[in-house]
Amino acid sequence: MRLILLGPPGAGKGTQAQHLVAKYGLVQLSTGDMLRAAVKAGTPIGRQVADIMARGALCPDDVVVGIVEDRIQQPDARKGFILDGFPRTVPQAESLDQMLERHGLALDAVVELRVDESALIKRIESRIAQTKARGEKLRDDDNPEVLHRRLAAYREQTAPLIAYYRRHGTLCSVDGMAPIPEVAAQIERALVEAERTAKPAKRAAAPPRRRTAKRPAGKAPARRRTAKKAPARALRRKTGDRRKPARRRTAARKGLPRRPRA
Ligand code: AMP
Repeated sequence: MRLILLGPPGAGKGTQAQHLVAKYGLVQLSTGDMLRAAVKAGTPIGRQVADIMARGALCPDDVVVGIVEDRIQQPDARKGFILDGFPRTVPQAESLDQMLERHGLALDAVVELRVDESALIKRIESRIAQTKARGEKLRDDDNPEVLHRRLAAYREQTAPLIAYYRRHGTLCSVDGMAPIPEVAAQIERALVEAERTAKPAKRAAAPPRRRTAKRPAGKAPARRRTAKKAPARALRRKTGDRRKPARRRTAARKGLPRRPRA
């Protein structure tokens, strides 16, 4: 299964992705996490994006597309993945379409977490306060001013993806303001529905069955032993009856001359 979780910062994409990882054995590919790891490790990409991320702006499309393409080719992503925080712009979505096509892959669903922005701001501010109260370190972009900038970036650059994926027919929307288990249940129902509606297309694309393809031309397929014949033979073997089963009198029934006995 290959999914996108779409929603503004703080909508609960990370939490829901973890639930899907546990339930379906998918890998969570969070571009935010990958970029933060690059910044921490001081890689060339990390140095390029550190300042952009701290401001709450979006990193260049080509950088993000490149790290996603590397990541989806790794063995753990073969079973399926959840894209969390990617794509974030229409050009990134177009690059993703081309990338998936190059690798013979397709998206199963795009799940939008619908949220109310003012409630979201309160939610994130209380998360920041709780992290501080626990004495834990805050992320560089975890402050109210940067949060407003990240929300503005979402509204301007990421929200148009909702219409993009609606046109593609892969979009399902769930209420991201509901309690966490309820959101998870809504996502599961949406995935079941996406699977159900995608089936006819998958069946049409199914490759030809191998047995037919492998049988040499002109050779009839082996006859299956029917369920009716097998018990009669088994019974004769069991009872030690060595007589040959009576031959059918087809010729006589058809009124044809009988073959002379040998
Ligand atoms: P996140 O953890 O998804 O909220 O991302 C944190 C920051 O990483 C964002 O504010 C951006 O600066 C950067 N980032 C993550 N994903 C992307 C992306 N797909 N495109 C551009 N920038 C991104």
